[in-house]
Amino acid sequence: MVVILFGPPGSGKGTQAKVLAEKYGFYHLSTGDLLRTAIKNETQLGLQVKEILASGKLVPDSVVNDLVKEAVKENSASILFDGYPRTEEQAKTLTLVLGTLSKNIDYVISMEIRFEVLVERLIGRRTCSSCGQIFHVKFSPSKTGEVCDRCGGRLLQRADDTEAVVEKRFQEYQSSTLGVKQFLKSRFKFVEINAEEDPKLISERLGSLFFKNEK
Ligand code: AMP
Repeated sequence: MVVILFGPPGSGKGTQAKVLAEKYGFYHLSTGDLLRTAIKNETQLGLQVKEILASGKLVPDSVVNDLVKEAVKENSASILFDGYPRTEEQAKTLTLVLGTLSKNIDYVISMEIRFEVLVERLIGRRTCSSCGQIFHVKFSPSKTGEVCDRCGGRLLQRADDTEAVVEKRFQEYQSSTLGVKQFLKSRFKFVEINAEEDPKLISERLGSLFFKNEK
C-alpha cells in the first residue's frame, strides 16, 4: 500500500507517520528526515542543502526526487510518504517511479489545519536527537522537560521551527505546494482529515480507513 500524507508544516504528518509505521509496518519516507540526516552527517548533500532548510525554502526537485528514487528502490513494500511530493514536478516523478514498480498511490490524506494552530504547534515542538520521538512543550511535554521519555536522548528544537522560518515555510507551502493538492485530488483517492483533532483519534481513523477490509 502507498499512502501520501499531505499538508502544511505542523499539520502532524510526521507524528501520524511514526505511529502508523510502528503499528502497521509502513516504511516511513520523510524527505525532511532524509535531508536532516544528510546535514547531521555532513555529507556532500547535507552541506549543499543546509542553508536551504535553515531558510525555510524548498530544496530543488531534482535533489529530493533522487533521494526518493533511492529510498523507494530499497523499501518498496508499504510506504507512507511524509512531506513528499511538494511540487507538481515531484508528484509526476513519484507516479512514474511507482509505475516502474507496478505500484499506485492508494490514498492521499490531506491534513487540514489553520495557520495560527500550526504556528503554536511548531514553535513548541521538540524532537529527540537520538530516537526522533516528538514532544511539545505545552501539549505533550516530556516528563523532565529536558530529555526523551523513551530513550533519554537530548530534546532539540529544529532550526527551522522558529517563528520567522515557520512563516517562510508556510509561504512556500502556499506558493509551491498547495497547487499539488488539486493534482493529487483529481487523480487519487483523496481523504480530508481535520488535523486539529486529537492525534490519537486521527491515527485510529486512518488505521481503520486503510485496513477496513481486513477486519
Ligand atoms: P519537513 O521535515 O517535511 O517539514 O521538511 C523540512 C525542510 O526540508 C523543508 O522546509 C524543505 O526545506 C526541505 N524539504 C523536505 N521535503 C521536501 C520536498 N519534498 N521538496 C523540497 N524540499 C523539501
